[in-house]
Amino acid sequence: MATLLCVPIMVRSVESAHADAVVAREHGADLVEYRVDELFHGSEDEPLILRLVESSPLPCILTCRPTWEGGLYDGEDAARIALFERLGTADRPPRYLDVERAAYTRSANLRQKVNLAVEHPKQQRDLRTTLILSTHDFAGRPADLTRRMLAMGAEPAAGVHKVAFRARSLRDNLELFDLLAERTKPTIALGMGEFGLASRVLAPKFGGFLTFASLRPEETTAPGQPTLTDLLGTYRFREIGPATRVYGIVGWPVGHSMSPLVHNAGFSEVGHDGVYVPLPIASHEPGQGAAADAEATYASFKATMLELIHHPRLDFAGCSVTMPHKQNLVRLAREQGWSLDEASAQSRTANTLCIERSGDGSVAQASVANTDAAAALACLVGELGGLAGRRIGVLGAGGVARAIVFGLAGAGASVEIFNRSRPRAEAIAQDVSEAIPGVGPVGVEDWEARIGAEAEAFINCTSVGMTGGPAPDESPLPPDALARGNKLVMETVYHPVRTKLLSEAQDAGWRTIDGVEMFVGQGARQFELWTGVPAPCTLFRRLVREALQG
Ligand code: NAP
Repeated sequence: MATLLCVPIMVRSVESAHADAVVAREHGADLVEYRVDELFHGSEDEPLILRLVESSPLPCILTCRPTWEGGLYDGEDAARIALFERLGTADRPPRYLDVERAAYTRSANLRQKVNLAVEHPKQQRDLRTTLILSTHDFAGRPADLTRRMLAMGAEPAAGVHKVAFRARSLRDNLELFDLLAERTKPTIALGMGEFGLASRVLAPKFGGFLTFASLRPEETTAPGQPTLTDLLGTYRFREIGPATRVYGIVGWPVGHSMSPLVHNAGFSEVGHDGVYVPLPIASHEPGQGAAADAEATYASFKATMLELIHHPRLDFAGCSVTMPHKQNLVRLAREQGWSLDEASAQSRTANTLCIERSGDGSVAQASVANTDAAAALACLVGELGGLAGRRIGVLGAGGVARAIVFGLAGAGASVEIFNRSRPRAEAIAQDVSEAIPGVGPVGVEDWEARIGAEAEAFINCTSVGMTGGPAPDESPLPPDALARGNKLVMETVYHPVRTKLLSEAQDAGWRTIDGVEMFVGQGARQFELWTGVPAPCTLFRRLVREALQG
């Protein structure tokens, strides 16, 4: 059976809940969950709830979640029990009734009354309500998870098992997938919070009974819940099945990445059975000193990547890798003996992992590539023709600058790096001279020297001008620098598309290349490595521009 898509509605009035359920149906939901914990106070509210359920435009789950299980109902259990009994005799009862496992196990009275209201093997009457027995933990993975699952499994009246807990890391999703794979009844297994998104999106791959999606971003009933538009639009939820290959973006943070938007649409466009999800792997909290923190971050990256790659059912086929793990990827590849392309081997920074599998699902080959440099160089070549002998000024000396400087030097350009912290730029120049024999020296200048620099083109590889970055309203090239003749400037920042730098450079008569072009180029190369077919670049470009210019 296909995984259902359920919109939870926190009911504040029957009218607004009904209206939301109509919208949910129009937008493609299969089911709604009426959370009546706020509305229901006692028997006087029963008629309202019956009216809501009986007039529901979609089959519904009825839930009255008590405060002790993360809900808002703080009344007596006796009142809830009476409501459940009443629903059992309704002309049009709810399709599902959600009851917490803890209450069901603890109270013989509740158990007996609920059992009278739901269909189950020993039920005498012909009823149409199925019991969802649920357990939640908003703090983390419950220590007694196995015991809870066994306890639910021992209740014959439960038609569906539900477990939801706050995922502490990506690895918790893997345990949720295992629970689904080993289910004895239809099961909902979801991770809450930023780390749990994969469990929500990938539920159809593992035969999950349903996944929840909110109607609007501000109306989630659990942390990390995606919207209906996210699931049906971005993630192509209905196209995900058991054989779907899993891809994603590994980094921290990755919540606002544009990559899921383009790669999922691309997979659909070329008929590739894949889904691409955010795969957050957090940096270690600062505290033990820079070197120890970096080691701890690497340890977490390594452990998570190896679990993803070797999980027997995930079909993990590759990923994009972004900050702070680009150098970690090269280190892991070296340790594991994976192949590295020339760009990543030379620059020691990479953004792409490809996993090829044998017929039995085991890893046949893992390879690592850096597509940032090739994408940036292609943008420049489009404007300048060849790069040999061209004088290019690189602003910044972070991960992106490193990849681009290696690419430019390899193509024979004459490169000068301008960075706030000079030692970082010097390290790149030194590494280039050691890694690429015979290449001319890469120049290193103080940050201030960019103003009077002579170059045919400048590339902004700093995060200056980036929304949410350290200096969102600034430009890395002040007006004095732009006054010195008409040249070319290329942005790597793509959010916003039109940065202050691009805007001022255009006003000064310079030619410009915006950051979307490089973003599309690096993503397209990744897509081609994973799927073996050309990426739909026009589609990528349109989606990113529409999303950013909004
Ligand atoms: P990174 O490793 O953190 O490097 C950041 C760089 O910005 C460093 O050189 C840093 O200088 C400099 N910087 C930060 N704040 C500054 C300030 N206020 N004034 C001057 N310099 C400043 O980051 P990254 O991964 O290289 O990414 C850099 C940019 O590339 C980001 O904006 C990112 O969005 C963009 N990017 C674009 C694409 C694409 O496809 N278009 C792909 C990847 C990244 P210090 O060394 O002195 O700290």
